[in-house]
Amino acid sequence: MNLATPPVEVDSKGDLVIICSGIPLLVTKSALSLSPRLYELCAIGNDSSLRRGEAQSPQPTQHVPTPIYVAEEPYIFLLFLNVLHHNTNARPRSLDAVAWTSLSALVDKYICRVALLDEGRREWLQPSLQHGLKAEDVWRLLRFAYNLGLQEGMSGVSRTIVQMRSEPFTTWDFAKNNLGDMPRAILDHLDRCQGVLFSRTIQALSSVTTTMAVSRCASAQAYIGKYIQELAAKGILPETRAFREKTYLQVVGEARRIPEEIYINSKCGRNGPECECVKHIGFAQKQHLLRQLARCLDTNNVVLCLRCLGDTECEAHR
Ligand SMILES: [Zn+2]
Ligand SMILES: [Zn+2]
Repeated sequence: MNLATPPVEVDSKGDLVIICSGIPLLVTKSALSLSPRLYELCAIGNDSSLRRGEAQSPQPTQHVPTPIYVAEEPYIFLLFLNVLHHNTNARPRSLDAVAWTSLSALVDKYICRVALLDEGRREWLQPSLQHGLKAEDVWRLLRFAYNLGLQEGMSGVSRTIVQMRSEPFTTWDFAKNNLGDMPRAILDHLDRCQGVLFSRTIQALSSVTTTMAVSRCASAQAYIGKYIQELAAKGILPETRAFREKTYLQVVGEARRIPEEIYINSKCGRNGPECECVKHIGFAQKQHLLRQLARCLDTNNVVLCLRCLGDTECEAHR
C-alpha cells in the first residue's frame, strides 16, 4: 500500500479527493455511499474533523474534485477506503491489534458496519483467531466483532478468550478500561462462561479416576495413584492452588505432557476375570483425558453472543 501514490481519475463524474493527514486519496462518491456518515460529511463538509477545502473550488466548466480533509491515521483510513472500494489487492490478509482497535473506531464513526461485515469476518477475524494471540489482542478482536455486529465472531472470540484467563474478567483492568462500546455486563457474562469452563475442566480431570475407581483392586488403585501423581507433578490436580492459577489452555498444555499409561491388570489379585477392572484393560488415560478436556468447550455455556448483551435474555446461552 503506497500512501504517497498520486491520485488518478477513478470516476470522471464522481471523484472526490480526501486529504488524510496531508496525504491525498482519490475516492469515488459511489463507494463512499457504503458509509452513510462519510457520504453525508462529504456532501455537507461541516464536521470539525472533515471539512471541504476552500481554495480549490471547482471551476464551472471543468471537473476538479474538491478536497475533503480528515484527521485520521492514514494507514487505517486507507485500509477503510480500500474496503469501501472493493480493492481487495491493496488490503492486508491479517490485521494487527492496533489496526483492529482503530478500525473498530472508524466503524462506529463512519457507520460502515455493513461494508466491513463480510470482510471483517472472513478475512480478519477467523484467520486472526488461529494465531497465538495475547489475551489483550483477543479482547481487541472481541470489540471488533462487537462493533461489526458479527454474531458468529462474538461466539468464536468469547470462546477463545475464556480459555486464556484464570482470573475473573470483572477484575481485569485492561478489559475494564477497554470496553469501547461494549456494555459492562460483558465482564459478568464472561465470568459466568469461565466458571462453567472451570467446572467442566475439573470434571474432565477427574473422569479418569471416577472411571477406574469402581475397581478397588491393587492394579486399579495403583493406576489411579500414578495418574494423580502425574496431575500433581504437572500442576493440574484439582483443588490445588497450582491448578486454580492455570488457564484452560495451560491445563490442556500440561495434560498433553502426561505420559500415556495403558491399563493392564497384572496386579489385580481379585481373581482376574471376576474383577470389574477387566472391563478397562487397554484403557488409555491420556487419550481419555484429552478427549474429555476437548469436550469442555462443546457447550453453549462457555460462549456468548450479541443477544447475550441485549435487553432480553438470550435463549442459546443462559
Ligand atoms: Zn482388578
Ligand atoms: Zn447468547
